[in-house]
Formats: sequence, structure tokens, C-alpha cells
Amino acid sequence: MAARRAVVLLSGGLDSATAFATARAEDFAGYALSFDYGQRHDRELDSARRLATALGAEEHLVLRLDLRAVGGSALTADIAVPKGRSDQAIGTGIPVTYVPARNTIFLSHALAWAEVLESQDIFIGVNSLDYSGYPDCRPEYIEAFERMANLATRAGVEGRSRLTIHTPLIRLTKAQIVQRGLDLGVDFGLTWSCYEPEPDGRACGLCDSCLLRRKGFAEAGLRDPVPAAH
Ligand SMILES: [Zn+2]
Repeated sequence: MAARRAVVLLSGGLDSATAFATARAEDFAGYALSFDYGQRHDRELDSARRLATALGAEEHLVLRLDLRAVGGSALTADIAVPKGRSDQAIGTGIPVTYVPARNTIFLSHALAWAEVLESQDIFIGVNSLDYSGYPDCRPEYIEAFERMANLATRAGVEGRSRLTIHTPLIRLTKAQIVQRGLDLGVDFGLTWSCYEPEPDGRACGLCDSCLLRRKGFAEAGLRDPVPAAH
């Protein structure tokens, strides 16, 4: 019997890479989905492409969406990316790097592709512990999306399949995610986390995403293979 297919959201960061490796470890055939959405850090798409190959994706779809036309985020509009924030500041409130409704937009596309692929499984590397305060990373959001998805598709309504949104990292710390990825053979040297790379191409080391990444590697007692400028 052919392997079950799973659509995996692959941003190019270490969380999505680990989520992809988890899907593969659970014997799914992985279909990687990335978005060229006008993000400031489109460097992450190079990582997504390399990861898709390294992690054995059956296909890698990069969809173009112009979220820059919508704006409203430091990642898609002319708004400064916060730098050097404390752990406490990162853990409080919703930061300006929040992209309005991003995971709903992404998961909706994943749902469409899953239906075409006759897949019943979507993996997303959201995390509700060491995260940036984004409301669309919480378990209650994912559960609500899953319920909606089963009302929204032909496959769901005809009772042919029941879609599951897998969130293998949702209750892990960043350090646990790093360890899990390592155990599953993820090459973190291929991943990219920084929201605003330096002119020389290095990670800034100061944005929330860089700081969470650094904390994860430090707490796991591991060295990050991707150098940062600061
Ligand atoms: Zn950074």
C-alpha cells in the first residue's frame, strides 16, 4: 500500500523542518507547502527548497501570495522589526511581526491541496510555549480550524475522509524542538529563522525569531550551525 500523504507547511525555519521530519518518521509521504507572500525575510524560501529536498519531500509547492498588499505587519510592511527584546517582553502581548491571519491563510491553502491529493493529514509546526505570542499558534485555534476544515471540503461532507491537523511541536519548548529535530536527523544548517537578515546575509541575532532560536540551542546545550551577526 502506498504511504499516506501529508501536506506539511514548510517555512524554512527549524520548527517546520522538525514538523516535516516528524511526518516522515510517522511514515507519511510528505508534500511540502511554502509561501512566497512578500515576507521581508524571503531568504527563508531558499532554506525551504533545500529542506524539502533534504527531507525527502515528494513535491514542494511554493505559492505566491501578495500579503505585502495587505500589510499590517513588520514582516510585510514598512514597520521596524523589534530587536533585542527580553524573554519577558517576547512572551507578552502580540508583536508587530504578527502577520494578520497568516496561519489561517496558509492552512486554507494546505487544506485545498490536501483535498486534491486525497490526503487526510496536514502538519504544521506551531508551538505554544516558546513562541512569539501569535494567536494563530494556540491549540484552541488549531482545533477550531480542524473542525471548520471537516465542514468545508467535499471529502469531509461526503464522509469519505476526516482531516487531521497535526501539531507535533505544540507543547514542546524550543530546546525540545531542537533536540527532536536532531534526533530525527534534521540538518539545522539548512534552516533559516531570522526576520531581518544583515546586509552581508547573516542572521541578525537580535530579532524575536533569532532570540528564540538562540535560547532553544542554548537550553539544548547545542551549537547553532547558522552563524548570527550579533
Ligand atoms: Zn534575526
